Amino acid sequence: MKSIDLHAHTTKSDGTLTPAELVRLAEESGLAAVAVTDHDTVGGLAEAGAEGKKLGVEVVPGIEVSTGWQHTEIHLLGYLFDPAAPELTPAIEWVINDRRERNEKMAALMRADGIPVTAEEMYRRYPESTVGRPHFAVKLMECGLASSVKDAFARYLAPGQKYYVRRNHIPFDRAVEILRDSGGKTVLAHPFQYRFDDGRLRELLDYCRNVGVAGMECLYSGYTPEQEKYLEALAGDYGFLVTGGSDFHGGHKPEIKLGTGTGGLRVPYELLEELKK
Ligand code: AMP
Ligand code: ZN
Ligand code: FE
Ligand code: FE
Repeated sequence: MKSIDLHAHTTKSDGTLTPAELVRLAEESGLAAVAVTDHDTVGGLAEAGAEGKKLGVEVVPGIEVSTGWQHTEIHLLGYLFDPAAPELTPAIEWVINDRRERNEKMAALMRADGIPVTAEEMYRRYPESTVGRPHFAVKLMECGLASSVKDAFARYLAPGQKYYVRRNHIPFDRAVEILRDSGGKTVLAHPFQYRFDDGRLRELLDYCRNVGVAGMECLYSGYTPEQEKYLEALAGDYGFLVTGGSDFHGGHKPEIKLGTGTGGLRVPYELLEELKK
């Protein structure tokens, strides 16, 4: 049985492996396919695709878009779209610009507390990356203010903490439309991350179905077999394809392994075949 991973980040967003290194790890881990799903960028797809051809690993073009739905940040995965589609570029530029403004505000808040940091420094350090809170988290660690990325989020960067600055998000339905117009399929990412109760989750799923989302990420790092079954049943109710992935970030989330997540994850190749139909 061939296994795959349909959710992974690289240095092009907030992962620690380059796109080529990620594909090499997929090969070493015995995965038949890996999707590169960086936050709000397609910058790693060409490099990953070229490495995949070399190593015989199928690389699925992907993206994870941070969208807004009813004042909540919802992550939408896009797959199998054309990265060069004309609809995609302006949308990504809008997000990068919004992030730029936010990164400058976050850096200014930190400087006001005497932390020597600028957004420009982050762009120099992480060229071509989608710079965001995880990169500032590393800086806070280096300044001795946090013991890990997670700790930096808990103390300073999570909503409600002193350096948190809100981002603007593309409306969920607009992101679905853009990815569909670019020839892709869309999937609701990690449905439990939003901490919705059953009623509100169903409200979101109704909405997803209405706007044409194709699938739901039912298999995910840390989800129990019971949780996966619950999501698979929901996917059946709503007519969604089932997908899965680890949300691998390399050293930024060392407890999550590519392909197997926190240990129990296994995503069969057949799910990718369904997605391609
Ligand atoms: P940003 O897109 O800049 O708002 O950063 C969001 C990213 O930070 C998420 O996609 C996660 O990868 C990471 N993140 C969010 N919350 C935490 C947390 N509590 N601990 C570690 N990483 C987090
Ligand atoms: Zn991330
Ligand atoms: Fe996510
Ligand atoms: Fe992710």
